[in-house]
Amino acid sequence: MGLKVVVIGAGQAAAAFAARLVDLVPDAAITIVGDEPSAPYQRPPLSKKYMTGEMSADRLLLRPLEWYADHRIAMRTGVRAEAIRPAEAVVRLADGEELAYDRLLIATGASPRRLPAAIGGDLAGVYTLRTLADADAMAHEFHPGRRALIVGGGYIGLEAAAVAATLGLDVHLAEMAPRILQRVAAPQTSDYFRALHAGHGVKVLENVRLARLVGQSGRVARAEFADGVALDIDFVLVGIGIAPNTALAEAAGLAIDNGIAVDLSCRTSDERIHAAGDCASFEFGGRRIRLESVQNAIDQAEAAAAAIAGQAVEYRPVPWFWSDQYDVKLQIAGLNLGHDNVVVRPGARPGAQSVWYHRGEEFLAVDAMNDPRSYMFGKRLLEAGRNVTPAQAADPAFDLKTLL
Ligand code: FAD
Ligand code: NAP
Repeated sequence: MGLKVVVIGAGQAAAAFAARLVDLVPDAAITIVGDEPSAPYQRPPLSKKYMTGEMSADRLLLRPLEWYADHRIAMRTGVRAEAIRPAEAVVRLADGEELAYDRLLIATGASPRRLPAAIGGDLAGVYTLRTLADADAMAHEFHPGRRALIVGGGYIGLEAAAVAATLGLDVHLAEMAPRILQRVAAPQTSDYFRALHAGHGVKVLENVRLARLVGQSGRVARAEFADGVALDIDFVLVGIGIAPNTALAEAAGLAIDNGIAVDLSCRTSDERIHAAGDCASFEFGGRRIRLESVQNAIDQAEAAAAAIAGQAVEYRPVPWFWSDQYDVKLQIAGLNLGHDNVVVRPGARPGAQSVWYHRGEEFLAVDAMNDPRSYMFGKRLLEAGRNVTPAQAADPAFDLKTLL
């Protein structure tokens, strides 16, 4: 019998981990435990093409079910892992079964933050979006003329607003911070997306605090803001960020620090337990961070698999993200943490531009809007450890290729 490996969570990281581990340790006996009914699927389309109806549920699966069977991976969906007993190396499931492991991967992802019940967050017609079930539960709301309030101007809020506006809904988007995308992007990027949404009829409200949601017969009907503004609405989509699912790890005594703390080989404070994806925090540029992205879930999970296979691993990513809103593709390479300088590079086509982040003269990250060339060069520069100065980045006549 080969190495017994249990994975808790059947999401993006779990699927990537299993695919890499079966290559590296062909006789490993892998069991994946997931509390959702489905085998691992892609979440990004849930706020994009699945929401518009352009993509069907069967196309969301990351791998067909037969793939797991063909690789002798036991897929236990629809059951929650309830406890880890590290001293005995056992995971207990909600149905009472106990799974012994030689190695465990925790890939439990994250849960959406909700609005407090005290301000109406538990009324019918108030939704969050994380799972396929969440998306299906709100699908019937997306009809022309319906009045949507989207709370939160992060990725979920903006992508959902784009879908809703495209489908002909009347959309208000309320962001508490002074500007949308404040935490992740420079004012220039926020300005670009504010104008994009306004151009599609979305009413973007920034620096506003939702005081309460008021219901009629238990269903949300009005939103009242602290500044006295009130809106009549049909439903609310709340996209105010996520909290990593760390409860199991914490109860098992693992170190927690802004997520399940892992080292550069993705190992937790217990040497038989690794963690990857949205739930795991790691050292990056002198800080302990979590990256909430597909890139991170895949690359960190693959690094964990390599570490479990006995390889020397140092997970030092060049992070990348994307977001689709209307006909604009936002692509981000790098992380702008600690930047003190921002320049804009006009793109070759109308509507194309990129925003470049530096700390002093050191290039950190680029946001590219409909500008795949700038994204590609920015990413390649970061991967090659090369620099581009702010002056070079801002000059559209400067050929970035010469730096590579
Ligand atoms: P998940 O994919 O969330 O998987 C974790 C799984 O573990 C879940 O199924 C969860 O229910 C399960 N679980 C938790 N606890 C237990 C337990 N105790 N027992 C059993 N199972 C458990 N990222 C991008 O890079 N680009 C995008 O465009 C993008 N769009 C997104 C759109 C939406 C609507 C959402 C919700 C996310 C989006 N993301 C995007 C983020 C990306 O999907 C996540 O970063 C990624 O899914 C993280 O993978 P993960 O495996 O860590 O967690
Ligand atoms: P997010 O990107 O963290 O954005 C949440 C936004 O809501 C932030 O701007 C936040 O402001 C704001 N906010 C917080 N509390 C609020 C309140 N009470 N009222 C109004 N605004 C409030 O999170 P998200 O958009 O909910 O997305 C959830 C997860 O899915 C994230 O991991 C995200 O990365 C992922 N996702 C990614 C993509 C993509 O990469 N394209 C697409 C969809 C989802 P502060 O920053 O000031 O708190």
